[in-house]
Amino acid sequence: IHHPEALQPGQTVALPPAASRHVQVLRLQPGDALTLFGDPLHGGEWRATVTAMGRQTVTVQVGEHVAIEREPARAVHLAVGMPANERMDWLVEKATELGVASIQPLVTARSVLRLSGERADKKVAHWQAVAVAACEQCGGNRVPPVHPVRAFADWLAQAAADVALPGAFLSLAAGARPLHDWPLDAAACRVVLGPEGGFTDAEEAALRAAGWQPVSLGARVLRTETAALTALAVLTVGAHG
Ligand code: SAM
Repeated sequence: IHHPEALQPGQTVALPPAASRHVQVLRLQPGDALTLFGDPLHGGEWRATVTAMGRQTVTVQVGEHVAIEREPARAVHLAVGMPANERMDWLVEKATELGVASIQPLVTARSVLRLSGERADKKVAHWQAVAVAACEQCGGNRVPPVHPVRAFADWLAQAAADVALPGAFLSLAAGARPLHDWPLDAAACRVVLGPEGGFTDAEEAALRAAGWQPVSLGARVLRTETAALTALAVLTVGAHG
């Protein structure tokens, strides 16, 4: 159960609304054990016991801390031209299962989904909740942040300034080297890919100029969500700690 605040052993806490709802759905009873994750101070997980099942709020007593990690050995930060409809939900859920470190939704020149303002913020909150649910399902105990939606050019200007992490962009252009040949000894990297309509030539040129490596996933044109998950699988599976 996700509880994104610092905890102490022995403490009795009222769970936040989403967590309370989740415990109610699981039909837990006073005395039942559960695991809390999301403590920003201690990381890992807390053992806990349900003490009261209120109508709205579930109360638990916090037990011992368990310093367990289930992150891949390589942190992959993903920036993606958001696909429309439920495809982005699917991408966020599966990327979280695979251990993505963070997700940056982008609006690019060819994006079908052109979110901004309040609608964008609502969607991001929804995707963040999808990531929490995926962690609860798969045992990940660090929820990847889903960052606010950014326009491609703004994002690239900021990303270019942060040269600490090697970056690759998924490209269908001739000459892009296979992703699995990307010489990557870093423990963290960034990957960016286009929406349904792909990147424009100008966007690919801007990425190259900013030092991003074009990499390929083969000759087939994969949907955005398939390409994102394939890249994550290549970069994280085998790199689990
Ligand atoms: N018609 C678009 C085009 O030609 O660019 C197709 C875009 S594809 C549906 C969405 C994104 O997934 C692309 O912009 C690219 O970043 C990535 N992608 C899809 N298949 C790929 C592949 N085989 N190799 C590398 N990247 C790929």
